[in-house]
Amino acid sequence: MTVTSISIERLRDLGVVGAGGAGFPTYEKLKKRAEIVILNAAECEPLLHKDKELMTHHTDAILDGLLLTSQHVGASRTIVAIKEKYEALIQELKTPCAARGIEIHRLPDSYPAGDEFITVYEATGRVIPPGGLPGDVGCLVQNVETILNVQLDQPVTSKYLCVVGDVPEPMTICAPVGTSFGDVLSHVGVDLSRLEHVMIGGTMMGQVMKSLDEVVTRTTGALLCFPNDHVVARRYTTTPRQRDVIGMSACDQCSFCTEMCPRYLLGHPVEPHIAMRALEFNRMGEDAILGSQFCCECNLCTMYACPEDLFPSFACVDNKQKMRAEGLTHPVTGRRDLPVHSMMEYRRIPVSSLIQKLGLSQYRNVGPLVEIDWRITSVRIPLRQHIGAPATATVSVGDQVTKGQMIGAAPEGLGVAIHASIDGTVTHVGEDISISTRS
Ligand code: SF4
Ligand code: SF4
Repeated sequence: MTVTSISIERLRDLGVVGAGGAGFPTYEKLKKRAEIVILNAAECEPLLHKDKELMTHHTDAILDGLLLTSQHVGASRTIVAIKEKYEALIQELKTPCAARGIEIHRLPDSYPAGDEFITVYEATGRVIPPGGLPGDVGCLVQNVETILNVQLDQPVTSKYLCVVGDVPEPMTICAPVGTSFGDVLSHVGVDLSRLEHVMIGGTMMGQVMKSLDEVVTRTTGALLCFPNDHVVARRYTTTPRQRDVIGMSACDQCSFCTEMCPRYLLGHPVEPHIAMRALEFNRMGEDAILGSQFCCECNLCTMYACPEDLFPSFACVDNKQKMRAEGLTHPVTGRRDLPVHSMMEYRRIPVSSLIQKLGLSQYRNVGPLVEIDWRITSVRIPLRQHIGAPATATVSVGDQVTKGQMIGAAPEGLGVAIHASIDGTVTHVGEDISISTRS
């Protein structure tokens, strides 16, 4: 099923949220007007291929959804921002884009090209002010899978994700929401008895998987498997205390972390080397430390720039939390007159360099879309998979549900509905709703 116009209420009831980030409800983003709509197809995390695969296999649906979104917000320009390395796909997109009046913008194969501040700058030359949003410069940025979900006009019950790294076959799959990571990994041929370290989402901005019982949500973008002695595993299992101790003793204030920071280069006052200096001194309140507020947590400083393998991004994140607790805000928040650094275009970090630095060259950098015959007997669907309030359960233990049925209504205020991803019996209702195929 596809749509010819967008209904805000329907998007809310279908549970469409940003599939590439924290899950901001899409209906809320589409309430405002915008001059330019940008499809963010940058996908700059190493080893991930989901967006490219979706663009290849669902070209018309995505471009139709993008055009519909543009019409809805009254945009005069619509841009597909895609990495220049996908030249074959770009050639395939040329005709269908031209037929819809959609422009194609080639992004460099650098990290973090998919950070929406960088995507907007690269595609339009506009700089989102510190602490601002794309809407402040007339732009709306949408993720590829989100736009596909807008166009499909059906409850969001499945999620595309890449399973890559130390796996038998790297691939992109579409899993029912609520499937455990253990079920996902065993369905793609991973031997769970040999499984060691798993990152959720990416090597740069992901989270460490704590348990195979964690589940696929509407925002899960990838599972990346590594042996425990791999550099990625070692970096992410360093404790906060260890990070602070080695930071205090080994940071020589070379400022490479700041000089390569994409937000600093964009003109925002983010200076991670100052955040590192502050590890030793309680100097909250100084503007330079307050700049941590504008860190996008891309981790480039930690995973690539620092020659001592320290953790400046974590120092920035700690500062942000302290600032929130103390109600502090940097005085340049919202300023539109900050100049872009003169070295901005010369300090883009190629993804190939990241792959080398992170020890990822040994893994196959592919992720074809593969159809999986899901033989799962249960799912656990969180009522909160998005920014805002959790959905309100509308089913009880013992109820029979069918795939696509609403099982949690959209809350008052910001939030969306959730739906059953398989047919079955409700076995638990709490913060999550469990459904089993066994009665
Ligand atoms: S954290 Fe690393 S890159 Fe940053 S100033 Fe210290 S040593 Fe240099
Ligand atoms: S994580 Fe580091 S490089 Fe990225 S924005 Fe924050 S300070 Fe800058």
